[in-house]
Amino acid sequence: MITPQRADVLSAILEERKLDALIVSTLVNIRYYTGFTGSNALLLVNAKGTRLFTDPRYSVQASQQVGDRVTIAKGKLIEAVASKVGTLKGLRIGFEDTRASYALSKALAKLGRLKGVGDAVDKPRWVKSTLEIGAIRASVALNSTAYDRAMKRFKVGMTEKDLAAEIDHQQRKLGAEGPAFATIVASGAHSALPHATPRNAPVERGGYLLIDMGASLNGYMSDMTRTVGVGPCTAEQERIYMAVLAAQQAAIDAVRPGRKASAVHGAAVRALKQFGLDKLFVHSTGHGLGLEIHEAPRLGKKDDTELEAGMAITIEPGVYEAGVGGVRIEDTVLVTEDGCEVLTTTPKGWTMVG
Ligand code: ZN
Ligand code: ZN
Repeated sequence: MITPQRADVLSAILEERKLDALIVSTLVNIRYYTGFTGSNALLLVNAKGTRLFTDPRYSVQASQQVGDRVTIAKGKLIEAVASKVGTLKGLRIGFEDTRASYALSKALAKLGRLKGVGDAVDKPRWVKSTLEIGAIRASVALNSTAYDRAMKRFKVGMTEKDLAAEIDHQQRKLGAEGPAFATIVASGAHSALPHATPRNAPVERGGYLLIDMGASLNGYMSDMTRTVGVGPCTAEQERIYMAVLAAQQAAIDAVRPGRKASAVHGAAVRALKQFGLDKLFVHSTGHGLGLEIHEAPRLGKKDDTELEAGMAITIEPGVYEAGVGGVRIEDTVLVTEDGCEVLTTTPKGWTMVG
């Protein structure tokens, strides 16, 4: 349903930017504003209100999810939108310039003068409603249960792909739509690749086992990384793990409303510096998440977005040594009025398995 509050947000963008029409083309934004979950849609906002355009495959679904402000278009959606907007010269057409495809931008340009609205349509999604926080909480809990169940079935010698498949299987059995992103299982030296793809190779003793997994539940994402040692491990492996854990805690302690995203990253970097490991931390400390696995803000060096209560973010520093291995520890965290709440409950002390 197009909730009145969310329709108001879109009308406000229309007014502030003096637009004759605003076209929302990003599916995840269309879902947020209208509840429509189909894979082909455009949303038109103008003085008459909001109207969803989709194709005949979704006629039943669109009327259930959105109501009667729907146009089912047999041909190209943009042509159906054009017939509603008209092509009066000088119309100001707002669009998601940071998101829209070149093809769509070109088609929209025929309707009038294009005005990019930047992240104005995305921005209201950054701070989550109580309902959304509940949905993220549920997704995080499901993800942790899937991790526990998959790890119970883990045996040394199992392939990375088999463990990844077990994780995906457990997520779905618990009610997830599926993984929020391609599950990462990386062991030994392979764990030094922050975005490793699971291999057909067995997980062997003496190295790290890094698992980065998230679930999508009712459209909302969770994201967690755990790294364990596949015993026996060395004292140096444990030292690096404890350094990453200290950096993760330092970043969590830095999270509070008004704090810049970059400052949280800075806290993680400073903590790793004390262990002489900051040069091996090659990515940002975290990211927002919700309907998408990667949303604003980005907790990196360059993002000065101020955190706000209600933002859901990840905290995930890591240390990667090429040819040796990598450690990353990631939790999903909610920014609260007086700091933050770590939503992920899976234990993260140094653990050896096998
Ligand atoms: Zn992750
Ligand atoms: Zn993440």
